[in-house]
Amino acid sequence: MQSFNGGFRQHSTCYSCKREFEAFEGTQAYARIKRDRKGMHLCEDCKSRIELEARLQFGRRLLTGRD
Ligand SMILES: [Zn+2]
Repeated sequence: MQSFNGGFRQHSTCYSCKREFEAFEGTQAYARIKRDRKGMHLCEDCKSRIELEARLQFGRRLLTGRD
């Protein structure tokens, strides 16, 4: 673990875009990586993109009444 501005950060590789990213202490991403270092993690870019897609899909479902 490294020290950065008095806080810690975790490194992980995004399972979607395969880029390495950092999460800073105090963020949800940091807590997630710390809890499950071998788990699959998403960088912020991919996370917001996937959340947006999920929201769009949910909206479409509401409109069409289909899955
Ligand atoms: Zn990513």
